[in-house]
Amino acid sequence: MITMEIRNIHKRFGSNEVLKGIDMDIKKGEVVVLLGPSGSGKTTFLRCLNFLEHADQGTLMLGGVKTTIETATKKEILQHQRKTAMVFQNYALFLNKTAKENIALPMVLAQKKSPEEAEKIALKLLEQVGLADRADFYPSQMSGGQQQRIGIARALALNPEIILFDEPTSALDPELVGQTLHLMQEIAKTGATMVLVTHEMQFAYDVADKVIFMENGHIVEQGTPKEVFEQTKEERTKDFLARFT
Ligand code: ADP
Repeated sequence: MITMEIRNIHKRFGSNEVLKGIDMDIKKGEVVVLLGPSGSGKTTFLRCLNFLEHADQGTLMLGGVKTTIETATKKEILQHQRKTAMVFQNYALFLNKTAKENIALPMVLAQKKSPEEAEKIALKLLEQVGLADRADFYPSQMSGGQQQRIGIARALALNPEIILFDEPTSALDPELVGQTLHLMQEIAKTGATMVLVTHEMQFAYDVADKVIFMENGHIVEQGTPKEVFEQTKEERTKDFLARFT
């Protein structure tokens, strides 16, 4: 079953054509990892999937609803966005809200849940991400790893069809990376559909169902982790992977 069908995504910034026609099918429950050199368009592509960046051309079908990017109305964009959640490199938490409020607020604002119900769900999620004792802490009182786990809990709270992770561990101190990756692995096990930009090769190898190697706005190679890491077909992928061994 396909959760998201992505067709012919083009995006340019001025004269810089960053995405040159990307096609992808993301199946329900699949973990897709995007790899590629810096500047290849991975983050831009991820942001185009929920209109944080508005692509120039293409279609996105999510949960059976097709959105044509060129003609999408505000309402269509909002409906599409409500089926997605993003986890950011720099957590993007509200600094003047507690952990619990950071998780609860989007449920109240975007899903019109009552504050009481949102708080109940937030407390449950805090427990799930191992931070029940930090419910009333502010972001500044938590480590980067804890803040990112709040960011992940906030994404889960929205019960999205797909969760997009943009380099979720790259701002963390090395000793905090492991716990965040572990949490992401646990979430993958629950059957969540996930697309990640990451440089964590071991995580990609262990957790991904599909690895996609991008370069210069194109998909160069894709397959299972075994296919991409061990039976690499393209020289450009080989050169990139060689830098990590
Ligand atoms: P990656 O995630 O693979 O490192 P990005 O998607 O961040 O690549 O960037 C791809 C290209 O798009 C780069 O050349 C970058 O400079 C450019 N780019 C990204 N965002 C913007 C923006 N908001 N304005 C102008 N250029 C951008």
